[in-house]
Amino acid sequence: MAASRAIRTVRGPVEPERFGFCHSHEHLFLANGHPATLNPALRIDDYELTLEELRSFRAAGGRAIVDAQPLGCGRMEAELVRVSQEADVHVVASTGFHKLAFYKENHWIRRLSADALRDVFVHELRHGLFVGTDSAEPDASATVAAKAGQIKTAVDAERMADADKRWFEAAAAASLATGAPIMCHTESVEQGEWLVEFYLSRGVPPERIIVCHLDRALERPESHRRLAARGVYLEYDTIGRFKYHSDEAEARWIADMLAGEFADRLLLGLDTTRARLRSYGGEIGLTHMIDVFLPLLRTYGVEEAHIAQMMVVNPANAFAMPT
Ligand SMILES: [Zn+2]
Repeated sequence: MAASRAIRTVRGPVEPERFGFCHSHEHLFLANGHPATLNPALRIDDYELTLEELRSFRAAGGRAIVDAQPLGCGRMEAELVRVSQEADVHVVASTGFHKLAFYKENHWIRRLSADALRDVFVHELRHGLFVGTDSAEPDASATVAAKAGQIKTAVDAERMADADKRWFEAAAAASLATGAPIMCHTESVEQGEWLVEFYLSRGVPPERIIVCHLDRALERPESHRRLAARGVYLEYDTIGRFKYHSDEAEARWIADMLAGEFADRLLLGLDTTRARLRSYGGEIGLTHMIDVFLPLLRTYGVEEAHIAQMMVVNPANAFAMPT
């Protein structure tokens, strides 16, 4: 009999068939800290406004959100749990690390060894989310009961120097220890390619690797197809981000990828910040996917079965981990 698998949400494990319509990459909260000093849109810290946004998402038919903010750089763990309960939406929280620019010079995440970082990530996946880690090193006496359901990682360098590998080594080791999926922030398809190579070389199975932001530049479709053929998940989360491209260009790209028979490898999201969440006065809101983008996608000939695959079936598969 196959081992049982569930999605690790902040309210507890959810069976894959009960996960439902999912945005695979969002930011529901971001504390007012160092990231917000770099970009004011990276402050999403009003509980009531996020609750309102998440309630609209649920009313439109949304059921699950993957929150892609890891510890140490603005994750608001207690609020994630509370908003998930109050809005009745599944929320997956992230352990791991973001771009190093999001951590001040003396931040603990820059100091810890690969083994110590692995232990931090594994603790969050098995026991509970650390609190207060923006300013202090993780402390096992300061956690919430909710667990992380994925390992977020981020690369923004052109090439990974040996000295930079320890964060990625830690993420790979934590995934091997727990079976958790690894989400990779990338800023180009080339970075996605070598990061996938790195994780595969460490023994992480391809179906546990999710490469984000691949649709920022809609180019090199053959590289996308090659990645998909290796068995990793391609995440398209630049929908409604008009500084990169129009939704029409995105819809055309996705329709082409679906015609290439990689429907089982695609995940979608809006990668929202304060500048795009409607309740905060932003441009589109979490309902943009259901109300605007998916109807547009249908006009490009995308079938319902493919939409259900990207919004329901693939997330359930990608985020399920051994219980
Ligand atoms: Zn993001």
